[in-house]
Amino acid sequence: MRDAGDGVVDQKAAEVILELKNVVKYYNRVRAVDGVSFRVWQGEIFGLLGPNGAGKTTIIRMLTTLTRPTAGETYVAGYPVGSRQVEVKRCIGVVPQVNNLERELTGRENLLLHALLHRMPRDVRERRIKDLLAYVGLEEWADMRVQHYSRGMARRLLIARALLHQPLILFLDEPTIGLDPPTRRKIWDLLQLMNREGVTVLLTTHYIEEAETLCHRVGIIDRGRLIALGSPAELKERLGSYCGEFLSARGTKRRFFTTRAEANAYAQSQDVDTVVRRTKLDDVFVELTGRDAGELA
Ligand code: ADP
Repeated sequence: MRDAGDGVVDQKAAEVILELKNVVKYYNRVRAVDGVSFRVWQGEIFGLLGPNGAGKTTIIRMLTTLTRPTAGETYVAGYPVGSRQVEVKRCIGVVPQVNNLERELTGRENLLLHALLHRMPRDVRERRIKDLLAYVGLEEWADMRVQHYSRGMARRLLIARALLHQPLILFLDEPTIGLDPPTRRKIWDLLQLMNREGVTVLLTTHYIEEAETLCHRVGIIDRGRLIALGSPAELKERLGSYCGEFLSARGTKRRFFTTRAEANAYAQSQDVDTVVRRTKLDDVFVELTGRDAGELA
């Protein structure tokens, strides 16, 4: 199913696992999501990238049955989300942005509580809890109360909890927000590992590096609209894979080229110092929105 090269899913061979068709969501007069359509294929890590307030969380909330669209259609694993909530919930795991673990309980007890809510039989739940604690590297701390966990440990436990009932799709809202870089990398490793084992992942992020490292495809969301869709490599290629960049009195100026030779020729023709480099995903964001990618954070 996968292209051996860059991990991009072969869309002809894979199944559509998530779909939005012309989805609109109003909160009173605020149009949080403004006519968004896209598909996610089974086996992908798909990222919704955009600044705060863009509408990313609202899209996750609609796909995970927490809120209904004002207009448009949403499908999860082929089920219309609005009318088949029980089936949808069975297929999905959700890692919220806010830690909603029971702080007074241990890691193991938190997982047990979730397993009981899902009515998992005793032998299945005991095995699954043991396996997942090992999977997320929390075996040693399984019997410590969650209030003593670091942020990274809590995030790993939230992931284990979301995976307990073996969902097809895992939704993560800003999975590494507030984590230091080494812990962020551990979470990335974990997500890549579970994806390799077959779980489709949809995550939101405002970290360009996260989208670039982790996601097979990204949808760039700005002011409730999907303004670009593709693999990070495709999006950069569309703009031009090489960038000539120089500093002018009115800020940094960039021009994009298909080949390094073209970018070099441009740099040589300039009478100011011009740096030639590869195009980055944040260049795509800046060009599409006219705003600095720094505003993403
Ligand atoms: P993101 O996840 O990209 O930061 P959100 O989906 O949280 O964006 O928000 C999109 C817009 O919808 C923002 O303008 C936000 O203020 C508004 N919004 C989100 N949730 C609610 C809500 N429950 N009630 C009213 N407005 C909301």
